[in-house]
Amino acid sequence: MLDVDLHVHTNKSPCGLHSLLEILGLARDLGMSMLAITDHDVGNGHGIRVLSYRFPKEWQGVHVLAGIEFSILDGGKIKLPGSVKIDELDICLAGFHPESRTIRDNRVKCTDDLEAVLNNYPFIDIISHPTLTGFDLEHERCAKILARHGVAIEVNNSSLRYEKEKKENLLSLLKHCISFRVPVAINSDAHTAVELGQDEMTLPLIKQAAVPAELIVNSSVDQALAFIDKRRANKKKS
Ligand SMILES: [Zn+2]
Ligand SMILES: [Zn+2]
Repeated sequence: MLDVDLHVHTNKSPCGLHSLLEILGLARDLGMSMLAITDHDVGNGHGIRVLSYRFPKEWQGVHVLAGIEFSILDGGKIKLPGSVKIDELDICLAGFHPESRTIRDNRVKCTDDLEAVLNNYPFIDIISHPTLTGFDLEHERCAKILARHGVAIEVNNSSLRYEKEKKENLLSLLKHCISFRVPVAINSDAHTAVELGQDEMTLPLIKQAAVPAELIVNSSVDQALAFIDKRRANKKKS
């Protein structure tokens, strides 16, 4: 069980089942300390804005981080929902999603787009499910790009559980990320109650890849806050 989970969806995402209070209540019952609510970049983003602007940073003992998950579009662009204010957010994820791309099965172009997105949008902190089938990357080049930007790579429990990422691809990418000292985030990407904080797929993989403890950004609340603090100045550049 994760204590800090930096990738969680509510029903403000088209694919999320539960309300914010249901998710936070469950996190409290599971004994989790911190959640980042990272709904998708759909619509006008009113829900994301209200969370970042009007919701407390702690709810029934659970630290609440306001975040978003962007889709990396063709050409290395993202869509910023009109209501969202980046400098109010604690954490920004970006990842490839099949419904938001026409370019796929092309490692070079996907890595070009990853590089462009990080050059264009310095407020992105974590690349979610980085080896999604159809959107795998050039692993060594990806690790160098992430290291240059101080952006974390994600090990995503849901995409491994539902076989949207292949273990061997993620292990290969992680090997390069470790050698370039890229930060690593271990997240559930929960869309349902049974997925929240789960790490049955990520835990053995982190062990197998021998990820050094100091590279993991969310093994404690303090580590997560330190990572967020370090990245804070980039939110102001938006
Ligand atoms: Zn995603
Ligand atoms: Zn997600």
